[in-house]
Amino acid sequence: MDPQRVVEMDGVSFAYGKHPVLNEISLSVFRGVIFGLLGANGAGKTTIIRLLVGLNRPHSGRVSVLGEGPSPRLGDRIGYMPQLSALYLELSPLENVDFFARMSGMSGRRERRDAIESVLRFVDLWDRRDDPVLKLSGGMRQRAMMAMALSCNPELIILDEPTTALDVLIQHEILEMLKDLNRRLDLTMLVISHDLAVVANLCQRVAVMYAGNIVEVAATAELLKNPLHPYTRGLLESFPRLEGHGRLNTIQGKVPDLSDPPAGCRFHPRCPSAMDRCRSEPPGLLELTPGHHVSCYLHEGNGAQTD
Ligand code: SF4
Repeated sequence: MDPQRVVEMDGVSFAYGKHPVLNEISLSVFRGVIFGLLGANGAGKTTIIRLLVGLNRPHSGRVSVLGEGPSPRLGDRIGYMPQLSALYLELSPLENVDFFARMSGMSGRRERRDAIESVLRFVDLWDRRDDPVLKLSGGMRQRAMMAMALSCNPELIILDEPTTALDVLIQHEILEMLKDLNRRLDLTMLVISHDLAVVANLCQRVAVMYAGNIVEVAATAELLKNPLHPYTRGLLESFPRLEGHGRLNTIQGKVPDLSDPPAGCRFHPRCPSAMDRCRSEPPGLLELTPGHHVSCYLHEGNGAQTD
């Protein structure tokens, strides 16, 4: 595997029992990039995390992380920053990070103590290391989470909804901290989010998921300027812009039940451009311009099939 390719998924499908969740997912994340996985609840984002950290095995296709497949252990070369609810509120940041480091298999006391001091200083939380987490602000709690993820000295960090439940000012502080970490440590980050604002602000590249499929992948600036898939366009049109003009649209209809997904393109029941063919044949992911991939018949013939 190309050493610059930190995450690679190739034609991956997965089901929980009879419930198909992921459908032929192909994805590459390159070293040093902040990559966003954007989608509504139930799109399959969490299942992708579970496959990447080795909690589940794909039913078909190939998953490779940091050149290893099956995936390396969480806490070994992969850091994970879960949602805030994973913190123990009665414990201090130091105790939370220590607990996480031990769970990740860091057994030497001295090694652990040095690593914990270094990450708590790095996220500027050393002076509050002994305060119970419940006395800390939302931003400090999020920095404690980041310290946990960094404690194993990872090459890849997976961040699950990194700013959920934070107010706007704290969100801004956390996003700036993450960008700073990416620059200073050349860390690869995979950001899972349903929030377009977070992905637009933080990520350099983004994959849009819908009902277990990746429907569009591009550099974030390109995706925001030139969205090609009708679902991506719908997301952007429903997103309030800073300039404050223009009417907000919503995407009509509901996300399908994945236990019985629509045939053909899974977006067809909600798509204003759906054609007969969309109702029976699933479209493949095509690379239309370098680095910009889309799965939609409206663009067939303009690009090459993604391998
Ligand atoms: Fe719409 Fe058809 Fe494109 Fe699906 S393939 S997004 S239904 S036009």
